[in-house]
Amino acid sequence: MLFAEIPGFESLKVVLTQAATSGHIAHAQLFAGQPGSAALPLALAYTTYINCTDRSETDSCGKCPSCVKYGKMAHPDLNFVFPVATSKEVSEAPSSASYIKQFRQFVQDQQFGGPQEWGAFFGAENKQLNISVGEARYIISTLSLKPYEAKWKVMLIWLPEFMNLGAANAILKVLEEPTPDTLFILVSESIEKLLPTILSRVQMIRVPPFENDQVEQFLISHAGVPALEARTIAMLSGGSLSEARRLMQEDTSIYYELFTSWMRSCYAHKYPELLQQTELFGKLGREGQKGFFQYALSMLRESLLSHEGAHDLVKLPEQELGFVRKFSAFVHTDNMPDILDHLGTAWMHIERNANAKIVFFDTSLYLCQLLRIAAPNCEEA
Ligand SMILES: [Zn+2]
Repeated sequence: MLFAEIPGFESLKVVLTQAATSGHIAHAQLFAGQPGSAALPLALAYTTYINCTDRSETDSCGKCPSCVKYGKMAHPDLNFVFPVATSKEVSEAPSSASYIKQFRQFVQDQQFGGPQEWGAFFGAENKQLNISVGEARYIISTLSLKPYEAKWKVMLIWLPEFMNLGAANAILKVLEEPTPDTLFILVSESIEKLLPTILSRVQMIRVPPFENDQVEQFLISHAGVPALEARTIAMLSGGSLSEARRLMQEDTSIYYELFTSWMRSCYAHKYPELLQQTELFGKLGREGQKGFFQYALSMLRESLLSHEGAHDLVKLPEQELGFVRKFSAFVHTDNMPDILDHLGTAWMHIERNANAKIVFFDTSLYLCQLLRIAAPNCEEA
């Protein structure tokens, strides 16, 4: 993986490459990002860079023997540990070694995927994933050997939050007193689940979420998603490329139709129409319902920005933009906090398996009242 293959993060790339060229390489580093972030690709690009024999100031060469082997994730001095479970192929004592082929394939196909996608990829069938004490022994024995050919022997632990307590405690000593020329790279998407004793032994590299523009560009250039759809998905993705990938399988255009008709019915207090929309909402399914409320939250936030005159900040596909411009007359600082609050609560209730139709209809009744609150300084009122 080269830095150039990862969209954005220019300043972070500078920090990483400068650390490598200056020779001040911390022996244990933690790349921390939210799900769907670039933490794993950046960690791979970084380890490729420190071992490249012909690197430039900004990136690896991609051609030297080290880069070629790193590109296939098959360098003898690059070791991986990641969460696993039993599957049809591995029925007992699963380990990272038993799934290394699948893992290499997974990272090539879904470099921004998380544990759920990984479990589905290798056939864990909803079983709990885990990094066992046996893996900790593997880590310790691997790191007791000198590098075969590279400058640095790398142990990359993907999702260390899946280590059980025994495994986590077992690697503490080697984290603190590493063998020379070995490098620990931890890549986590929930650092709050890591032991404080691990956190205190690593240098943290915080990887921010992707910007909406970066998600949009990535969808267009790498996944062939049409521009309009890419922008909608980017808006809903929360900066997560794995969430964007999931949304690609959904028909998000239905969100626009439902949202705009819903807002009109709420404002006009058209209860028979609200009942029809409630039925339609019920058919979206749990993930679709959550996606819809997320969409509604984004559209309402953009409407408020538009109301406040921050037109430059409103970045929406054309049809959404047209609606937001007109609708912005009805949202303002006097009703928006309550509207967002009710939608956030609705999202949470759906997440907790409440009856979707009741949640939707209740929320509609609140919106009927809130949308009629006149804007401050509104002369008509
Ligand atoms: Zn190279």
